[in-house]
Amino acid sequence: MDEFSLIDRFWKPLGDAVTHSEVIEGIGNDGAVVRCPPGQDQVMTMDTLVEGVHFPSDMPPHALGWRALAVNLSDLAAMGAQPLCFTLSVTLPEASTSWLAAFADGMKALAVRENIQLVGGDTTRGPLSITVQAQGLLPAGSAVRRGNAQPGDRICVSGSLGEAGEALNWLDESDTPDPAVDTALQRYRYPEPRLALGQWLREAGSAAVDVSDGLLADLGHLLLDRGARLDWQALPVSDGLVSLRGLEGARRLAASAGDDYELLFVWPGGGPAPSGPKGSALPLTVIGTVTEGAGVTLNGPEGSIQLEEQGYTHFGGHHD
Ligand code: ADP
Ligand code: MG
Repeated sequence: MDEFSLIDRFWKPLGDAVTHSEVIEGIGNDGAVVRCPPGQDQVMTMDTLVEGVHFPSDMPPHALGWRALAVNLSDLAAMGAQPLCFTLSVTLPEASTSWLAAFADGMKALAVRENIQLVGGDTTRGPLSITVQAQGLLPAGSAVRRGNAQPGDRICVSGSLGEAGEALNWLDESDTPDPAVDTALQRYRYPEPRLALGQWLREAGSAAVDVSDGLLADLGHLLLDRGARLDWQALPVSDGLVSLRGLEGARRLAASAGDDYELLFVWPGGGPAPSGPKGSALPLTVIGTVTEGAGVTLNGPEGSIQLEEQGYTHFGGHHD
């Protein structure tokens, strides 16, 4: 199949699955044309997934399609943006129609659900690699930034942590399916971008990041030159992860493993804890407090451990 029939067969239908009035020209021209509505700011983000570096070689294409879009939507979520459109660069060793169909299906499921339109891209031959560049909108001046934390603010995280990391460990070590890790595998393959929460945080004027590298690593990105006191026992872990790893093992993963794509954010001290968007069932957990000086103190069962700046990476968070 040549490049053009491939575009017609897989990317055009994906682009037609969602339409936004802001998109003047989508797939088919040399470039897409998008009109930014007055009073809105445009947020842009990009993430590349390389086979063998960011995902294992046997990752099912349906999951890969979902995940490539999900990690970008997670960045839009962390900024408080509403998804608008994206471009997609696909580099493939060969044009397998069954592979492409599954990939496009996985991506379409999330694109339709989150109302984001594919407006263009590139299709080339080479080692498997996927790049998505996503764009979102928010009211002018309202983006949720990093580094907005004040001493005394609470540090909060959505959902639970560590499960995607457990799935990755498991994929590295074994290739026999084990139903006990199904939930963890699902979380690794199909990350859930926390878009509603991110947009809700915009109103609260707080700072946020998404947890892609691991809690401690991303906490450093959130706080910049501030520090934190974290409560080890508050780290939110799922029952499933606890049954696989024990409580302490689960918390260790929650502190260091990446790929969960929860939102980590600061919330003013005093007053009520964050409740999240109306009607949302996503749990929000206060896990610590922002401190004046740099460095992170972990208050655990054996007293408190001081993690210096290098402690972030030391704790295992990888970054590519
Ligand atoms: P050009 O040669 O001008 O870069 P192409 O021939 O590569 O254009 O692509 C033709 C059209 O198909 C363009 O509108 C381009 O954006 C779109 N396209 C190509 N690959 C993809 C893809 N992976 N996803 C979405 N659109 C794509
Ligand atoms: Mg051209």
